[in-house]
Amino acid sequence: MTKLVITKAQRKLIEREAEVDFPRECCGLLIGHGEQTVVVADVVPTQNQADSEDRFLIDPQVQFDWIRKLRGSDLQLIGHYHSHPNGRRGPSAHDAAMAMDAGQIWLIASMDDSRVGEIQAFVNGPHTGVLLPISIQIK
Ligand SMILES: [Zn+2]
Repeated sequence: MTKLVITKAQRKLIEREAEVDFPRECCGLLIGHGEQTVVVADVVPTQNQADSEDRFLIDPQVQFDWIRKLRGSDLQLIGHYHSHPNGRRGPSAHDAAMAMDAGQIWLIASMDDSRVGEIQAFVNGPHTGVLLPISIQIK
């Protein structure tokens, strides 16, 4: 996997979620298809169930429900997004520790003050704890 394709509207939705939830992290699921180039079909905001402000936790039940719902379709749960209200670029040490599903995409919206400054994409490598940067194409 080398590239993630998202639409302007999808990017805008993630930015809006990040800004509405500021100073907490926002999070949600990414639905899509493709192998080398992965195309996002849907961005699904979810509640952040983490107790602390600088963490995110997506309800596992919501993820299972989506996996079941998408079974037999061309689409899959390709990964998730979350924001970094503290502006940090790239995965935190905690993110890396949580990266356990090879091939899953991590989209991180880094904020400058209360606005999104940059969105970066990573893919969980074959080994736990490795998030490799991939490019984003905005259509
Ligand atoms: Zn993070």
